[in-house]
Amino acid sequence: MITQQISPLVHPLLMDQWQQICVKLSQDFGDAAFKSWISPLELVSVENDCVHFNAPSRFMKDWILAHYSERLHFHWSSVLPSLTRIEIGIKISPPPKIKLVENESTSPQLQDNEEFDENREDMSAALDSRFTFENFVVGKPNELAYAAALRVAESEAPLFNPLFLYGGVGLGKTHLMHAIAWHIKKIHPSRKVIYLSAEKFMYQFIRALRYKDTVAFKEQFRTVDVLMIDDVQFISGKDTTQEEFFHTFNALVDNNRQVIISADKSPADLEKMEERLKSRLGWGLVADIHPTTYELRLGILQAKADCMDVKISKDVMEFLAFKITSNIRELEGALNRIVAHATLVGRNITLDTTQEVLRDLLRSNDRRMTIEDIQKRVCEFYNVKISDLLSSRRLQNIAKPRQVAIYLSKIMTSKSLPEIGRKFGGRDHTTVLHSVRKVQEFCEKDKEFSNDIDILRRSLEA
Ligand code: ADP
Ligand code: MG
Repeated sequence: MITQQISPLVHPLLMDQWQQICVKLSQDFGDAAFKSWISPLELVSVENDCVHFNAPSRFMKDWILAHYSERLHFHWSSVLPSLTRIEIGIKISPPPKIKLVENESTSPQLQDNEEFDENREDMSAALDSRFTFENFVVGKPNELAYAAALRVAESEAPLFNPLFLYGGVGLGKTHLMHAIAWHIKKIHPSRKVIYLSAEKFMYQFIRALRYKDTVAFKEQFRTVDVLMIDDVQFISGKDTTQEEFFHTFNALVDNNRQVIISADKSPADLEKMEERLKSRLGWGLVADIHPTTYELRLGILQAKADCMDVKISKDVMEFLAFKITSNIRELEGALNRIVAHATLVGRNITLDTTQEVLRDLLRSNDRRMTIEDIQKRVCEFYNVKISDLLSSRRLQNIAKPRQVAIYLSKIMTSKSLPEIGRKFGGRDHTTVLHSVRKVQEFCEKDKEFSNDIDILRRSLEA
């Protein structure tokens, strides 16, 4: 049931309409956004051409006008065809008792009517128990970030301030930040550590402004030993929040408290960020996490499979590490899916079931490697002609490269067996399958052959 603030001057019938519109808006935008932005609106009056609301602050008003007025207009138009505009005024009301709750995938929400804050450390978001240093697999792309995070977690006083971690989505920034927090909690339990997303920082700040509670807000941050703000790019373009963040940041650094920041870009590349803030963010150590490599992906898969206590064959692991290159979150998702599938149907995980179960994911990760690319490279490697590869000749020095090319086509593209057959001079899908099996057998028996396959694959991957 959605309850809204409505001025007593509004006709009860229109109040009903507004309730119904609210249900639609909450479907449009999701619960969290609805509670944060639409719920605080007070319906003041409804005229033929205008619906008038009050918002609790100028910031809220501007935000709602920028992000939600179109949908408000849309839904109200179905009730009032003559509607031309939505108007929002400002009316600041006294603070209700509130408590912030973190909702994993969405924004923090304002929850009314709950006792506020016996424990000031509530400000910090929950930490994921799996995100520890022990569970972090280190490889070339993340070794600097990992080493820096560990040093910061272990040191008594700030070494580099701030530590700025940056990299694309799903590459382990949040994991490292949680790992730092867990580590500090373990070795220095009395230290006050706050971890929160920049988005939540902003909500807290807006709430403080709204309820004229900024002194308490500032106090909370200025008494911490370690402050971690995740995804700081979220406050780009949010001027007042940036301003406040800048002051909080300076106060902490000046007092020799550790600040750790993450973002999707380097400080200099953050858009719509004040220059002085950008330069301040780059003062300490800036550590980037690079896109994953094949070796790191394979290492992560092995670690996760061990952790889940499942046995997965080498070719399936290699196939996943090769194909899912977007980020680690997707790689984990892929592994979870095939393990879940295998458990449900009670069958072993093979290359075929993997390709079947992950069809959609594989397509989006397809690097557009063509069978022609593979054929060309294999021919160069074994010094044979493409026409021979596609012919029906069975000479050993041609049959072997052909089988290798077929095998690589199977593991490196998402083409089906019949499609591959067609590209190899119209061979039958059973012939294709036979070649794949043969190559797998050879690889197990013949170390040198298996090395050749590796070299070929890497050269194609490069
Ligand atoms: P980001 O914050 O950079 O978007 P996350 O830290 O949320 O990425 O990581 C996404 C997922 O990948 C998480 O489940 C995390 O545990 C996992 N992950 C990322 N990097 C590693 C790593 N090096 N070793 C193990 N798991 C990792
Ligand atoms: Mg993150």
